[in-house]
Amino acid sequence: MTIIARFNDNRLGVVQGDVIKDVTSVLDALPACRYPLPSHDIFIAALPELRGAIDAAAAKAQGIPVAGVTFLSPVANPGKLVAAPVNYLKHLEEAQADPAIHYQSQVATIHRAGLFLKATSSLVGSSHGIEVAMPDRRTDHEIELAAIIGKRAKNVSRENALDYVAAYSLGLDITIRGPEERSLRKSLDTYSVLGPWMVTADEIPDPGNLDFSLEINGEVRQRANTRDLILSVGELIELASRFYELQPGDIIYTGTPEGVAPILPGDKLHASIERVGEFNVEVRAA
Ligand code: MN
Repeated sequence: MTIIARFNDNRLGVVQGDVIKDVTSVLDALPACRYPLPSHDIFIAALPELRGAIDAAAAKAQGIPVAGVTFLSPVANPGKLVAAPVNYLKHLEEAQADPAIHYQSQVATIHRAGLFLKATSSLVGSSHGIEVAMPDRRTDHEIELAAIIGKRAKNVSRENALDYVAAYSLGLDITIRGPEERSLRKSLDTYSVLGPWMVTADEIPDPGNLDFSLEINGEVRQRANTRDLILSVGELIELASRFYELQPGDIIYTGTPEGVAPILPGDKLHASIERVGEFNVEVRAA
């Protein structure tokens, strides 16, 4: 039903076509927090009860052209960035075949490797851009469908798992290739991009059939469909929730297909996922 964005100076907005409606006033209804702060995102937790107020505020607001807006990460305070390694078969094959990707490490299937975590401090919105921190090492793009958890999930079955998704977004899991643990190589500042907004889950009844693509400087590098996920969104939530409680605002990066390739300062990325959204991201030196 709704496309929700954080924009400019921490404004909350609803995107309608090529304009955004400022609905920041609804945030006044959020609980006042004192130290220690909760480990989940309080806006995502409150989203079900705020939906009516968001719609009402959007109906009254003036539209601001989307073209002039700075998009922040649609989730402000995720407790966890969960990510799926090698969750597309053709990416598994390219990773196993290419020493510049696997670095003498055995690339295990996701059934064996499970999931990993990216530091929440690596998260930026699409307008921020990616800052390549180690120009002497290969840094790759990975486009991924991202699922945003809406309510506490523990030991959830795949059949019910999508009930726990609040929204979907477009993610980039930026990665330095090398011998270190994934969580280190994928947690540099700006290496988790999310945006430009989130689309509430009722808009996307089947996250397992979405076309998506990533271009660098106008050249298509990755093009796939989420039907080729090895573990579906529901199966990823089932797996994750067996190991830890998923909380409102936790973000699941669902994995990338084949075509990963280096990015360099000066590159311009264009990423899009059907029904979810699209963004341009600039790459610069840190
Ligand atoms: Mn990835």
